[in-house]
Parts: sequence; structure tokens; C-alpha cells
Amino acid sequence: MTIKVAINGYGTIGKRVADAVACQPDMEIVGVSKTSMNADAYVAKARGYPLYIADLAKRPDFETAGVPIAGTVVDMIAKADIVVDATPGGVGLKNKPMYEEHGVRAIYQGGEKHATTGFSFNSSVNYDEAKGRQFVRVVSCNTTGLVRVINEVDRAIGVEKVRAVMVRRGGDPGDIKRGPIDAIVLDPVTLPSHHGPDVQSVLPHINITTGAMIVPTTFMHMHTVQMSLKRPATREQVIELFRGHSRIGLINRAAGIKSSAELKEHMQDIGRPRSDMWENGVFEESISVVDGTELWLFQAIHQEADVVVENVDAIRAMASDVPAAESIRMTEQALGFVAVK
Ligand code: NAD
Repeated sequence: MTIKVAINGYGTIGKRVADAVACQPDMEIVGVSKTSMNADAYVAKARGYPLYIADLAKRPDFETAGVPIAGTVVDMIAKADIVVDATPGGVGLKNKPMYEEHGVRAIYQGGEKHATTGFSFNSSVNYDEAKGRQFVRVVSCNTTGLVRVINEVDRAIGVEKVRAVMVRRGGDPGDIKRGPIDAIVLDPVTLPSHHGPDVQSVLPHINITTGAMIVPTTFMHMHTVQMSLKRPATREQVIELFRGHSRIGLINRAAGIKSSAELKEHMQDIGRPRSDMWENGVFEESISVVDGTELWLFQAIHQEADVVVENVDAIRAMASDVPAAESIRMTEQALGFVAVK
């Protein structure tokens, strides 16, 4: 059976999820939606995705620009087994009654609160629990990146507590209205930032406190993560653990990469669409165990990309009988995913 997927909100995340879904052997895109005409509409047309709009009054804006409109968002969801809601944070909550009325499943993004769905997803942690749910939330880019490394260490070694600081990009590359231009902004000044509680929406038993600041860059977040371990471990053990997880990339010393800029260049060089880095970029040399039980590492997280593969798995988790490991393999194979090892 082919899973029919609609993308409500064809923006930064929606257009990436659409392309990732379109190349899966067991899924098809039945439509994507937007609110206003811009270059993304031409991309949807070129990709062959039927384009729907929230407000039919805007139809002439699209059609005079040469982009045909297939109907309204309601027409689109009527054709779908499942909707990926990638509208801006808060809009998804407003869309919920529409999904309920049409009895369609929906996957939300990290800009929505956990309470909107009551279930927050990561394919390595709780894939099986998504089955049978009408609403699932794929956690944010930062939370996805934290959950991947914390869960892996917790399962194998045991994590007593986590302390992490996120250095966040100011805006996405195409987002001309965001800043800062020349500042390091504490976001927030108080602790914890929202990331710690958000990790607990997936891993409720983890003791975690986070802080965050925003810097004038557009590509990637950089995390400093410190985990107090329940048992002593060596850095070699941790490296081996991460080597076994397809979505934890290890950036080795020989690559000579020590910045987000060089990672972007490398993603372009290996032919990743839109320079996307779907995996965590953990700097292998940074992995250190201090005093036997204190693990430290730096990792780069591509905000526009790591959640994309999680959305594809969430679709299978909710709308198929494919087991977690097989879904993860299928997602990555279809994308031609070559990990940063
Ligand atoms: P975006 O602004 O780039 O795209 C949103 C799209 O939704 C736009 O195309 C807009 O036209 C469309 N839209 C708005 N209202 C709509 C409506 N009522 N019906 C249909 N379409 C509508 O936003 P984004 O950055 O892709 O963020 C989407 C979600 O993903 C948010 O929850 C965000 O927090 C989350 N997220 C974003 C990033 C990131 O780096 N951008 C990373 C992880 C998660």
C-alpha cells in the first residue's frame, strides 16, 4: 500500500519533507499547500506536486504567475492518509479541528507545544508508540539532536544528568527578517531554556538543564553537551556507540572540520540536497570523558534538516506496519544518505 501524504505548509521544513517523502518507495505526495505566491510555488510546480492554498481569494496571484492551483487545503487533506503540518508554530494548533473533522492523521513540528498532540516523537526512542495515534509531534531540531545522543548513551551506559548549552543560528538562510546582526543574545537570560523540558517530552526520565544563546549565523546550531554517566566509560566506548547509530555522524580529525561553515561546504561537496545534514555532526575529537563519568562533546545540528528524516519515519510509524529499524533503513536508503563518519 502506498501512503498518501499531504504537506500543509510548503516552507523551510515542508519543502524538504515533501522531497524526502516523494523519493520513498511506499509513499506519494498528494499535494502541498501555501498561503501566498513566491518562488517556492514554482519549485512545487517543477517537482510535480499539486499545489493547494488556504485562501482561494489568493488563487489569481498564483495563476497569473503561471502556477495552477488544485484547490483548497480542505480539498487536499480529503485526498490524504496523513498530513505533515509544517505551518509556522501555533498555526498547527488552529488546524487541529480541521484534521479532527476530516478524521485524518497529522504530524506536527517542534514549533507546536507537546500538549497539542500529547505525544512527542523520535524514531530511535518511541517509534512503536506512534502507532494508532491521530496526532504526533516531531520535536524541534535542537531537541532531536539532543535526544539522539542522550538516548544512545543512556541505553548503553546510563545517564545521571545532562547539562547542555545551545549556540543557535539567528535565522534560516532565506529568512531576511531575523537577527541579530551584531550581537550574542541570551535566549533566555534565565535557565533553563525550553530545550531541557522539550527533551523530557521524549525522554521523561532524563534529568536535564539547558541554556541557549543566539548568534548572527544562519546555518546550524552548535551544542556543548555534558552528561554525567551512571557508570564509568571511556571515550572509545562512546565513539563506538555513536558509530553504530546512522543518524549520529562523527566528524573525524582527518577531515579538518571545526566549524559550521566547513560542514556546509562538505555537505555541498558530497551532493546533499540544499546542503542538508540529516544527522548530528558530533566532533569526534571533542568527545572526552573527564574523571571517568563526565562525558563532554560538541555537536553541530542542521536546523532545517535533522527533523526531515524523523518526519518520514513518523509517517511510517503511524500509517504502516513497517518496524522502526526497517523504516529508518528505508528512509535513509531512498535519500542516498551517506553518513558523516
Ligand atoms: P516557514 O515559515 O519556512 O514555512 C511555513 C509555510 O507554511 C509557509 O510556506 C507558509 O506559506 C505556510 N503557511 C502558513 N500558514 C498556513 C496555513 N494556514 N495553511 C497552509 N500553509 C500555511 O516555517 P518553517 O521554518 O518551515 O517552520 C515550520 C514548523 O517547523 C514550525 O513549527 C517550526 O518551529 C518547525 N521547525 C522549523 C525549523 C527551522 O529551522 N526552520 C526546524 C525544526 C522545526
